[in-house]
Amino acid sequence: MNVRAEKVRKEFDRFPALHDVSLDIHSGELIALLGPSGSGKTTLLRLIAGLERPTSGRILFGDEDASDKSVQERNIGFVFQHYALFRHMNILENVSFGLKVRPRAKRPAAAEIRRRAMELLDLVQLSGLEKRFPSQLSGGQRQRVALARALAIEPRVLLLDEPFGALDAQVRRELRKWLREIHDRTGHTTVFVTHDQEEALELADRLCVMSQGRIEQVGTPDAVYDTPASPFVFGFIGESSRLPVTVENGGVQLAGQKLDLAAPDATGAGQLFFRPHDVELVEGNTALGGAVVASRRVGGTRRLEIELSHSSHRVEIDLPFDHPAAERSRIGFRPRRWRLYPAS
Ligand code: ATP
Repeated sequence: MNVRAEKVRKEFDRFPALHDVSLDIHSGELIALLGPSGSGKTTLLRLIAGLERPTSGRILFGDEDASDKSVQERNIGFVFQHYALFRHMNILENVSFGLKVRPRAKRPAAAEIRRRAMELLDLVQLSGLEKRFPSQLSGGQRQRVALARALAIEPRVLLLDEPFGALDAQVRRELRKWLREIHDRTGHTTVFVTHDQEEALELADRLCVMSQGRIEQVGTPDAVYDTPASPFVFGFIGESSRLPVTVENGGVQLAGQKLDLAAPDATGAGQLFFRPHDVELVEGNTALGGAVVASRRVGGTRRLEIELSHSSHRVEIDLPFDHPAAERSRIGFRPRRWRLYPAS
């Protein structure tokens, strides 16, 4: 099922939580809404669900305008961070609930409901626990039950709002892989809200990066990481250093020093971004260089913090942990991959 937000605006007491946002969600894809706290991710998800009405704009399911349809009519599956299971129902009853409460005409027979619920418990790898109550499960198991319950109604769209947010890092990583596998098997159109970029990069087919009620960029994890559309996206996804520069005669300068970086199409004040691992060591007066003020080992790499000689800015670069240069007190380098944006 394709879902489309068309110029959707949402105000709460005149405060615009979303500014005319448009997004095409493709049938069968897993898309992550990613952004800092307050960027509007949950609001967009709730509008898709029908839990909120847009102030203006439309939500389309396929070609059909769903703006006035209720949550039930939209046939949405939900999993929230704290979407408590029904405590007085066992796991099987929890998963069966959505089917049991259907109007008689649409309700499958009891045996069929049980069969489907057992099948889903098998899918989420909880067979054998169907008689347990939620309090007898771990947090990760509860979220798997929540997913089975959401899938039971055969939703047209699955909406997940920080479903693993309350779990510890190890369990999160396992559930992430597991969710991706389930998605590949079931093929539901899935919208996943997270503020965890690692989770989004690993899990999603496409990312929708949001900031302050606007969409900054939509694209595959590779496209967003390699060609960030704005300084915000560059700074938010992955690690980066930012330097205020000027461009004169097609060359980038930092504090009056010419760097070996050509920017033929730019002019005036700009912001130079690069990632710590996208640098090469060089010497000479067009190199960026300065004093190593901190050095620490992170897994297979050594992260150096460098205070630049020509400006007091500090930047970070990565070297292999056993690189001889990591012992030096001064280092010269140039970014191999970088992007320039106009000064803000
Ligand atoms: P988080 O990651 O913290 O959940 P988010 O990106 O999901 O953040 P939203 O919950 O969509 O952000 O909120 C976007 C903005 O809208 C915030 O400034 C928030 O305070 C505001 N907002 C959200 N819901 C309401 C509401 N019911 N009434 C008033 N303001 C709201």
